[in-house]
Amino acid sequence: MTERTLILVKPDGVERGLTGEILRRAETKGYRIAELKQLRASTEQLAAHYAEHEGKPFYQPLVDFMLSGPVVAAILEGDRVIEGFRSLAGTTEPTTAAPGTIRGDLGRDWGEKVQKNLVHGSDSVESAEREIGIWFG
Ligand code: ADP
Ligand code: MG
Repeated sequence: MTERTLILVKPDGVERGLTGEILRRAETKGYRIAELKQLRASTEQLAAHYAEHEGKPFYQPLVDFMLSGPVVAAILEGDRVIEGFRSLAGTTEPTTAAPGTIRGDLGRDWGEKVQKNLVHGSDSVESAEREIGIWFG
């Protein structure tokens, strides 16, 4: 069954001019961009989006980082796109993410409290539908 996932190009990716490169990787793998927009996230959107991380030491730095500049939100469609995009993105820590992945090829550590790792991708069908609601109503 065709799935949908919510991806965000985070402020570091937009600032560094990597939006096109990141979307290109998703499209080249064969996923379809169903919706796409650039916006400034609100604190309400971020509180909802990152609710699972509330109380963790990186929570406030993460929210502040996500408020620091525009983000690009997209809905990607395709069979197993949720797993597929997370595989393209690579593991959370960009310094050690595998070469060949978005985070591994384009990201690194910048000595900050938050991992600036360029992209977000939903991690399950439930979180994808929840996050699509947050960013696309
Ligand atoms: P992922 O984005 O790979 O699904 P998580 O959902 O665990 O990772 O975390 C959400 C975001 O919070 C990460 O993408 C990263 O920007 C930040 N983050 C997660 N863990 C840490 C950490 N230990 N230190 C700093 N930032 C973190
Ligand atoms: Mg996550």
